[in-house]
Amino acid sequence: MPVAIPDATRGARGRRQRKFRAVRPSRAVQLAMRKELLALAEQMHVVVSPALKAMIEAGDYEALQAMLNNLREEWRLRYGTRARRLAGQWVGAANAESKRRFSEGIKDALGVDFAAIFDGPAITQAVQVMGTEAVNLISSIPDQYFQDIQEAVLKNYMGQPLPDGRSLIDQIEETYKVSRERAALIARDQTSKINTAVTQARCEELGIETYKWRTVRDIRVVGNPDGLFPKGSRAHGNHFEREGKRYYWRENPNPEDGIRNPPEDGPPGWAINCRCTAESVIDIDKLKFV
Ligand SMILES: [Zn+2]
Repeated sequence: MPVAIPDATRGARGRRQRKFRAVRPSRAVQLAMRKELLALAEQMHVVVSPALKAMIEAGDYEALQAMLNNLREEWRLRYGTRARRLAGQWVGAANAESKRRFSEGIKDALGVDFAAIFDGPAITQAVQVMGTEAVNLISSIPDQYFQDIQEAVLKNYMGQPLPDGRSLIDQIEETYKVSRERAALIARDQTSKINTAVTQARCEELGIETYKWRTVRDIRVVGNPDGLFPKGSRAHGNHFEREGKRYYWRENPNPEDGIRNPPEDGPPGWAINCRCTAESVIDIDKLKFV
């Protein structure tokens, strides 16, 4: 839908660039999803663990392995339907909140009511892609749980010690604890990634090609020489060093001086536990407004 830029903005002399504040991921969406994922993990553990423990006490490994295989299949199916529904709600809520925040930013920067603009194909596609990813991640919770238990059962059968001298029954409780931690991590990281993906799509639809990288500037920022994680890794690069630097959302074969191509670990909010955000740089001459 064509959108008119107010004359005051169009005619602004001097600066042809505007910045607008970073679109942060929604904490409310993250917490709602965390609650849902923890509830799913709990339902599974409450049903499954007494049967497994009884089988362990009976000492029948063959029956135990067969039972684990059946349970894994059963929970994959049970989770499948709910994962799709939950993923749809998750991406929908994260996108709606992201759009609201993006619209506020655009309104401040350009005086345009972006909320009235329908989502274009890039946004629809980002929502679909992130929805599929969310389904996979939700389904990975029971998968990982059963895989870890199967590995522990095998080790125990081979007479190998379990970590920290745990019994097999203790190890099942430990596996559940790890599943809960994973569920919380997935809720946080994926809410952030959805926000990044739809923000990038919104920027690209409007012709906003670049952003400034913003960290939260505390001791937990990866790469901060005085912080907790002075070194970056391949999965999570040195974000400290990127503070205030300008980046292209999408790889540009002929980058302008001073603008960097996308880093290997993705844009702000993409790497594991990343709390960085992208402050869009609006180049008024490149806007796809009419
Ligand atoms: Zn970061």
